[in-house]
Amino acid sequence: MKSSTATGTTATAEPGPARPRRGRFAPSPTGALHLGSLLAAVGSYLDARAQGGQWLVRMEDVDQGRVVPGAADDILRTLEAHGLTWDGPVLFQSSRGEAYAAALQRLTDAGLVYECCCSRADHGLGERDHPYPGTCRAGPARREVPLALRLNTRGYPTICVEDRVQGPHWQSVEAMVGDFVLRRRDGYWSYQLAVVVDDAEQGITDVVRGMDLLDNSPRQRLLQAILGLPMPSLLHLPLLVDADGHKRSKSRRALPVDPRQAPATLTTVLRLLRHPPPADVALAPATVQLGWALAAWDPKHLQGVKAVSCSDM
Ligand code: GLU
Repeated sequence: MKSSTATGTTATAEPGPARPRRGRFAPSPTGALHLGSLLAAVGSYLDARAQGGQWLVRMEDVDQGRVVPGAADDILRTLEAHGLTWDGPVLFQSSRGEAYAAALQRLTDAGLVYECCCSRADHGLGERDHPYPGTCRAGPARREVPLALRLNTRGYPTICVEDRVQGPHWQSVEAMVGDFVLRRRDGYWSYQLAVVVDDAEQGITDVVRGMDLLDNSPRQRLLQAILGLPMPSLLHLPLLVDADGHKRSKSRRALPVDPRQAPATLTTVLRLLRHPPPADVALAPATVQLGWALAAWDPKHLQGVKAVSCSDM
């Protein structure tokens, strides 16, 4: 971590010019792309390309139980239909077990990993709402059940991540999340571990994604600091919500994006991103709209915007 203050630690991004800019879109192939995911894809694409950088796609398919056959391909075809072309091969997390195991080994060697037999029911609903109280730090009470592996977060200072449009975000991981899972009881790697290992492997300098992931950033900064990995800059895009304020997501059965409607959808997405295309560009073919948006892109338009809704437009 870069600097310590009396109240905690500010985890700042790597300073700029040394590394070529590189952004990424990291969908989970659990279904077709919906409007909220397309918003993240377009935002990260524009931000990377407007800086002259590369844009990569990574399939976050660690949780094989949730993967829908054909969804990865479907997502890629939908991106293409919207003019979003990526650099290099698509990285599939399901092929990255060795890299995650190596990172886990380093954390284990540092004495920071312990086995845990607790199920969610043992300590409330989940890590999100209830910090894990560290029940198994001294060793799991049961060994006959599948064991998860957790990171011991005890004693780490409060982390402040600086988001380019949302501003500073403080979190004591120990107090607010607790020791979080690195490898799940079902044997799957956790999102937190996989994302930091892969962002480093892919040389990502600019993480641009939805607001719903902002709260994960301090855990990722903590892992990056412990593992000595570079810290990409962060930009969390406003969350797409329904008129009633609820997040639009696959779980709320949002309609998948229709690649045949790409020009109209892209115009909607650019409006949601506070970059409304002028009349002669709106509804034009995807490449024309993206060309305009690349020249116009300025993340300041999103300063402090936490949620957007189609009903506002
Ligand atoms: N796979 C995550 C999702 O689909 C995105 C993770 C990330 O961008 O860090 O929401």
